[in-house]
Amino acid sequence: MTLTTRDHAMRMLGVKFRAAGLPSPELDARLLVMGVTGASDIEMLREPGTRMSGAEEARLAECERRRLAGEPVSRILGQREFWGLTFAVTSATLDPRPDSETLVETAAALLRDAAAPRILDLGTGTGCLLLALLHELPQAQGIGVDVSPEALSVATANAARLGLSGRVAFRCGNWTEGLEGKFDLVISNPPYIRHGDIAALEREVREHDPMLALDGGEDGLSAYRALARSIPDVLTQDGHAVIELGLGQADEVGALFESAGMHVLRTVPDLAGVPRALVAARTRR
Ligand code: GLN
Repeated sequence: MTLTTRDHAMRMLGVKFRAAGLPSPELDARLLVMGVTGASDIEMLREPGTRMSGAEEARLAECERRRLAGEPVSRILGQREFWGLTFAVTSATLDPRPDSETLVETAAALLRDAAAPRILDLGTGTGCLLLALLHELPQAQGIGVDVSPEALSVATANAARLGLSGRVAFRCGNWTEGLEGKFDLVISNPPYIRHGDIAALEREVREHDPMLALDGGEDGLSAYRALARSIPDVLTQDGHAVIELGLGQADEVGALFESAGMHVLRTVPDLAGVPRALVAARTRR
């Protein structure tokens, strides 16, 4: 039996994924070939003729089957790139989205000149927001909170893998309940999908992201209400909250924070131009 090259396997898989109507067929094929062979981006480009082993081919066939059955690439490989870093993901965690990088960028800019900022991440999941920020800001420390102990063990492993364990602690709990001290920045990507809209989400999301991380209650705003109520108490006087927004939620979420006594400073669009991050503070400035 002649074994196929990585490059050929990638092209063939891309063709099959495209024929099946997957939204990013070539990228998915490339990531899966890299995942099963352990090849880096550079190796894929420099050594396209490298042959795959029989075991790698078998693993790739299994990946193909799972992807065609609607499982996202990140869940098949158990990892996802976010902010240029690799995060483990499991069925207990939301799959980090590129849109959420808008929050990291916004928060990092706010803390760039702070001496030793304390960051709180509410609903940390994989830990992607907090860990990307700690990676970006070597002087910062943080706490990540989640109600899911399974998610926290993923976040803990991600912190270790990124060499950030010394500057982060993870707590199991309900939003800010039981937390001590004040934070210079509170960041959160809460569940914000309206309960009634969940059935209409893409299959990749609906069947693979945990409901706990998606379901924002009847109007999608339940978590925002809890956040608006609790964040002012844990923020320093000059601190900021950077909160992810779902599609079309900027005004309603802004109103919730304003009625909790905070000031909405601005919203920041993601790469698609959708207002994605809400920036709020205790004082107007
Ligand atoms: N961004 C996810 C989506 O649009 C939802 C994540 C969330 O509720 N925070 O499917």
